[in-house]
Amino acid sequence: MASVNLKHVIKKFEGNVVAVADFNLDIEDKEFIIFVGPSGCGKTTTLRMIAGLEEITQGEISIDGRLVNDVQSKDRDIAMVFQNYALYPHMTVFENMAYSLKLRKTPKDEIKASVYEAAKILDIEQFLDRKPKALSGGQRQRVALGRAIVRRPKVFLMDEPMSNLDAKLRGQMRTEISKLHRELQTTFIYVTHDQTEAMTMGTRIVVMKDGYIQQVNTPQTVYEKPDNLFVAGFIGSPQMNFMEVLVEKFGEEVHLKFGRNSIKLPYEKARKLEELDYIGKEVIMGVRPENVFDEQRYLDSLADCVVEAEVEVVEMLGSEIHLHVKIEDTGFIARVNPKKQIKVGDTIRLALDPSKVHIFDRETEKTIT
Ligand code: ATP
Repeated sequence: MASVNLKHVIKKFEGNVVAVADFNLDIEDKEFIIFVGPSGCGKTTTLRMIAGLEEITQGEISIDGRLVNDVQSKDRDIAMVFQNYALYPHMTVFENMAYSLKLRKTPKDEIKASVYEAAKILDIEQFLDRKPKALSGGQRQRVALGRAIVRRPKVFLMDEPMSNLDAKLRGQMRTEISKLHRELQTTFIYVTHDQTEAMTMGTRIVVMKDGYIQQVNTPQTVYEKPDNLFVAGFIGSPQMNFMEVLVEKFGEEVHLKFGRNSIKLPYEKARKLEELDYIGKEVIMGVRPENVFDEQRYLDSLADCVVEAEVEVVEMLGSEIHLHVKIEDTGFIARVNPKKQIKVGDTIRLALDPSKVHIFDRETEKTIT
């Protein structure tokens, strides 16, 4: 059992650099939690504080209910996998994996059993006699994971463990690390700046920016109900489209107006804007590329949400097309079916699904609805 709790954790570096600001999070036993955010947002620093590699300026960190602020890293019952694998080049894979157990004076036959078991899980049994330099990047990565597994830690900490792998291998390793989490039934805390990794592996993701948590929730909730503009833009690929729009009321209808275009909002969103006094004000509208359609049936069924767009780039991806268009003066991406012939320079009509439109306050950037 290993929960990890962070209470009002702050990390300041020299020169009063606040790397992590008032971080509060309860990570439950067996969770696969992901810290995600752009470079410099404080992910690694938070992970290193949990690992005991970085002192905490203020606050409390507990692992498995025990306050560990003053507990040394080696006594925290954690294992960390780093970006650069940190394998010992002069040792074989077996020796690399056995090293921590040897330090603990574990009996030889027990070491052997643990290493073989981990090697089997990771499918690296055939490489146990090789040195790291005779392995591919993906194989080295598995050895680094194997070295962590043999210690049977309460918590696995991983800092961008796949950043040195190519895209295809990263895809494979994503599946393997998820599988590993299911097999080991331990708590995983994983740092990445890659939103795809966050979305596909985590049971919950923690989106961070400038040392602050922006949102903590399941990948699906963060994707569908982002708390603010930053989260909405950071999670999802291609990115959510944003546009400044004016909220207007015509009788009972509430529209979002931009230039010559306008979108009629569904009842609930309309009432929310009205209740919160946004009529006549500018807000930011967000629409994901998959909620923009060019097919006739959508242009018909969503007739009061159709906009005119000029095609600037057509990205053919086989199963779908990413249309980079301009609506008024704003760039927009639509993910559409590759059925229609669309050329650069065409003026086309696009329907935006109003039930999937996100609306943000212009000043606070918080989600209104
Ligand atoms: P990346 O994805 O680039 O690794 P990150 O989100 O992991 O970024 P951190 O490495 O945690 O970010 O850094 C958070 C902030 O703290 C940054 O502004 C960084 O410059 C600063 N920082 C990190 N380590 C130190 C240090 N030892 N001394 C001073 N400032 C530091």
